[in-house]
Amino acid sequence: MTVDKNARHASRMARKKAVIDSAIEQANQEKGLLLVLTGNGKGKSSSAFGMAARALGYGMKVGVAQFIKGRSDTGEEAFFSALPNVEWHVLGEGFTWDTQDLERDIHTAKAGWEIAKKMLQNPEVNLVILDELTYTLNYGYLETSEILADIAARPPMQHVVVTGRAAPQVLIDLADTVSEITDVKHAYRAGVKAQPGIDL
Ligand code: ATP
Ligand code: MG
Repeated sequence: MTVDKNARHASRMARKKAVIDSAIEQANQEKGLLLVLTGNGKGKSSSAFGMAARALGYGMKVGVAQFIKGRSDTGEEAFFSALPNVEWHVLGEGFTWDTQDLERDIHTAKAGWEIAKKMLQNPEVNLVILDELTYTLNYGYLETSEILADIAARPPMQHVVVTGRAAPQVLIDLADTVSEITDVKHAYRAGVKAQPGIDL
């Protein structure tokens, strides 16, 4: 690399650093965040549990409420629920096409929400993960406005992560950080069944 090229690189990087440093300086608030992980691609729940690992690394307490899914044999549950700072609730009974009973689905979702709400009222829980919550809203099992009010009323420093496809716009509006995961390709469509350690 010539001296000239080096000097140009150094001055470009210095300008970039000034911009980045100033942006970092301006982001100086602290608050409990509401994150939404939505979209049709794979990686919503696993991203949420990645944040659970981060929080636990800081000695924070984590509460997980899994809506819809009733199975209690995922790798993340086996791993996390054994840890002292984790509260783990499997609150579903399976997808609506499995239960085929609307009244029961509504009852299950409402009972589940009461448990989730306790975590949202407890300032000792630093991170609450509401896994697959969007389905309970989209199927009308839970009243979206009530759920959002309970989330909004949580302790100011508590973080909440909501996962699930098709997040309602009102939830996106309330959230601080929203990621939509795009489905580019999934092995399932090529006939590969869900693989332990990757898919469950
Ligand atoms: P993960 O738990 O792997 O992060 P996710 O939370 O984004 O996935 P869900 O809709 O909750 O996705 O579905 C969970 C299960 O369905 C996982 O086994 C996942 O691999 C699978 N899955 C997710 N997205 C797709 C897709 N687009 N096509 C087929 N299967 C999918
Ligand atoms: Mg999921």
